[in-house]
Amino acid sequence: MSCPKCGSTDIAISGTESLTFRCKRCGHTWSVEQKNLAIVNTPSGPVHWTVHTYYKELALQDAIDMIINNKDINTIVEELKKNYSKYLSEEDIRKIVEKARKIAQYL
Ligand SMILES: [Zn+2]
Repeated sequence: MSCPKCGSTDIAISGTESLTFRCKRCGHTWSVEQKNLAIVNTPSGPVHWTVHTYYKELALQDAIDMIINNKDINTIVEELKKNYSKYLSEEDIRKIVEKARKIAQYL
């Protein structure tokens, strides 16, 4: 999650009855309805965030495996799109590949 105003990810939860967030960088506050928090929009429609996270984790593991096997980045992106485009956007997939590259450096 990031601040809608300045983009910072340094966020505190402020307020407990209605979920209100406050950006620690610029002080901007905003509220989110609890039911909307749990839902992520994906290319095949809204899913619960746990489903979205599950597919992101699977895709990340696949990406790491492919990097270890010396597949090139374009091939990895294409493979992930083929397997996960139902639940992950192209932007999600690009972020996952970036993350996988960073993780694979330390393996
Ligand atoms: Zn901010």
